[in-house]
Amino acid sequence: MFQVKYKFGAKYNFVFLLKIEKHRAMIKKEVLDAINAQINAESYSAYLYLSMAAYFEDMGLSGFANWMKVQYQEEAAHALKFFNYLTERNGKVVLKAIEQVPVDFGGIVDVFEKTQVHEAHVTDLINNLMNVAMAANDHASQSFLKWFIDEQVEEEANVQKILDTLKLIDGQGNGIFMMDREFGQRVFVDPNAAV
Ligand code: MG
Repeated sequence: MFQVKYKFGAKYNFVFLLKIEKHRAMIKKEVLDAINAQINAESYSAYLYLSMAAYFEDMGLSGFANWMKVQYQEEAAHALKFFNYLTERNGKVVLKAIEQVPVDFGGIVDVFEKTQVHEAHVTDLINNLMNVAMAANDHASQSFLKWFIDEQVEEEANVQKILDTLKLIDGQGNGIFMMDREFGQRVFVDPNAAV
């Protein structure tokens, strides 16, 4: 609560009392819980891709490792995007333990096949999250989630493209070498940065 004193000329003094109340249009519990679960899922994704980066580093494929490190940064940025959204909606962020990720893989193709399976799973999670927001009649969350729906289309297309190229190369050294060089060029673009 604060006071504003208005003085009109010398004659009149008006005092207005304004009660400032923080508008608490709380996000519904089911949406809040689902988004908190998604923060955990995005953090798991980040950790999974960092583990894949470690695997590629161990193989001496620094370009592939770089691609996975950028993937790690993207997933961490997704977690942060959900975090910031909950803060904006006055929802409490609750961070839970991240499940153990795989640490060993059966070669380059296996890594990207596992990436493909994982991204299909994330798409299911995002779709379910949208269903929760729709059932709750939460239009703001639906609008926010649209970005992730589009993002998943891109994620799945990227992995498919890589798997197609790997199939074409069929394990040949110079093809892998060229891919490694190309993947070394990938840079992280922060989706949370102001445009
Ligand atoms: Mg993600």
